[in-house]
Amino acid sequence: MSSLYYGTPERLLWEDEMALRDYIDRHLDKTIHRYAPYLIDEAVLTPVNLDCFNCHIVHGHNCCEGGQPYSMEGENLALFNKHALPILKKHTTSDRVLYAKQKGLFEKTANTNYYPSIRMYDRNCLFLIKEEGQHICAIHRYALENRMDPAKLKPFSCSLFPLEIIEYNDAILITALTAETECFSRWGDYYRSHYSCVNAKQRPENTSGHYFAEEGYIPAWEWGRELLISYWGEKVVREVEERLYAKKGGRL
Ligand code: SF4
Repeated sequence: MSSLYYGTPERLLWEDEMALRDYIDRHLDKTIHRYAPYLIDEAVLTPVNLDCFNCHIVHGHNCCEGGQPYSMEGENLALFNKHALPILKKHTTSDRVLYAKQKGLFEKTANTNYYPSIRMYDRNCLFLIKEEGQHICAIHRYALENRMDPAKLKPFSCSLFPLEIIEYNDAILITALTAETECFSRWGDYYRSHYSCVNAKQRPENTSGHYFAEEGYIPAWEWGRELLISYWGEKVVREVEERLYAKKGGRL
């Protein structure tokens, strides 16, 4: 048996697989609720504040900087392939377009566990650009300009954060990044050692209250809800929510 990070062809490493099994065994029918084929984890209620535009200011870098997205599959990959070069031509320099044409859009390295990932350019994701002092995703910008759904055009995993979805046997675990899930999540150590969006304790001392403001922390589920509607439809998302409300005894 091996599990997959949903929305990618990527299998969990053996140690992540073991940690996942252990987590599910300990929480099933307690805080993880079955609603076939879903295993819905109350961890999706974890408060999160995706104050992404201020992340670079507070942490010196954001999660796109210095990184590469997870690989894509299916319609997500097909749509991306169709628009990738037009995106680069519209939002980046001719150098970057030439680089992508010569080297290809994807690369497989030890850093990507040898799955095809969007290539790096100048130590960042090929599609990370800087506009008016902000680090932004050129794919997202292009999608909005062309009235496309960013969630369908960007790598699924990039839109998924801070949720985590894993194909596990015949089930689909829906959870979020927490202190307990980071041992198997695709998000690795983002909780423990990086970002205050998912862990308010990571907020550097003396940070202005304007950044990652307390009132901005809302359930992780809310950040990922529109993405899941894009992929699964509103009916399924509502059914998952209803199951969660029923077990939790309240609204999100
Ligand atoms: S594809 Fe966009 S969101 Fe994903 S890592 Fe690259 S710049 Fe960031």
